[in-house]
Amino acid sequence: MTPPPNVYDAEPIPEAARAEIERLLSTGDLFRYTTDNAPVSLLEAEFAEMMGTRYALAVSSCSAALFLTLKALDLPAGARVLIPAFTFAAVPSAVVHADCVPVLAEVGADFRLDLADVAAKLDDTISAVLISHMRGHTSDMDAILALAEARGVPVIEDAAHSLGTLWHGRKIGTLGRVGCFSFQSYKLVNSGEGGILVTDDPEIAARAIIMSGAYEHNWKKHPGMQNSFHHWQNKLPLYNMRMNNLSAVLVRAQLPEVARRVRDGRANHDHVAGLLNASPWLSVPPALAPEERAPDSIQFNLEGFESDDEARAFQAAAKARGVSVQVFGLSEDNARAFWNWEFLGAAPELPQTRAMLMRACDVRLPARLARADLDFIAGALIAAADAVKGEARAYGT
Ligand SMILES: *Cc1c(COP(=O)(O)O)cnc(C)c1O
Repeated sequence: MTPPPNVYDAEPIPEAARAEIERLLSTGDLFRYTTDNAPVSLLEAEFAEMMGTRYALAVSSCSAALFLTLKALDLPAGARVLIPAFTFAAVPSAVVHADCVPVLAEVGADFRLDLADVAAKLDDTISAVLISHMRGHTSDMDAILALAEARGVPVIEDAAHSLGTLWHGRKIGTLGRVGCFSFQSYKLVNSGEGGILVTDDPEIAARAIIMSGAYEHNWKKHPGMQNSFHHWQNKLPLYNMRMNNLSAVLVRAQLPEVARRVRDGRANHDHVAGLLNASPWLSVPPALAPEERAPDSIQFNLEGFESDDEARAFQAAAKARGVSVQVFGLSEDNARAFWNWEFLGAAPELPQTRAMLMRACDVRLPARLARADLDFIAGALIAAADAVKGEARAYGT
């Protein structure tokens, strides 16, 4: 029997990184501000160019990028920030760190923000909107940007899982005031840990750069906004969330791989989605019309699974066939289930998001998988659903 595919290993770091890593090891030159044109600075220039933004700031994680963005927006303490109720715990955590209060909006069965709930909650008590494109699913950004603009509040994009995703052909992460990306190992580009923020706004960039730890005159190593820096020098606290040169070398070596990973990831996803959608028990919501996705995992809903026990039986049946499935709401302490964010206090009533999380499944689908791996995974999932719900065809239609 063929063994199940390994969906956990990352791709090897491209050979191109090795010579530069050797150089850093021999010089010990790991701090981004020791020399001019250090790898972190080069990464920022390349990433800004790739995204078509004026500024990029590389930091220690996407969480740090989100936190620094909120601080750089200079929101008053206690400001209310609208976020999707379906996201990773790091997102409400960043809001809390920035002395703001997250307000959770409902997410529907298509994993995207419920626009009626966004419209209802985006009242004049909201100071900013932080859109987390969770698992790379893009909510209706036209509607969200219009609602935010009507209220005069900034939109921040958490694009941790959306590098390479397009909306009307525009790059996700460049639609709002600031976009934040992750280089943590489970994202499209892997440096173990790391993040970057992009913006066209020189004041936000200058403030974020200083707070990220550009102490004294280290800001002079960031091009293009000297007046802003003069204004903020010594006025802002330092949080020291800088990226180090080794991480930047790893990221830079992978940037030429992004287009290929996006293309393969999308083809893999769409192949498995087509197979799963042929089962009456499994459904993969389609992308929105303006959206070109860059997935490295697949999410699908269990259809007609009346009880949590049936959903758990599906997980066990898939596991027995060699495929691990996470049902977001069923595993204990899952960091993507809003009721586990106890640091926020009592969980709000969010029946739509809760219902989605109890039947939404998550399977890793890295871009490097081969067609046979994909067919193995889809076959195991369909067989597992049939095993729990009975052979579909036996019921007729
Ligand atoms: C991974 C992830 C984050 C956090 O990124 P880090 O770099 O680990 O801080 C935030 N939001 C989403 C949607 C993510 O997937």
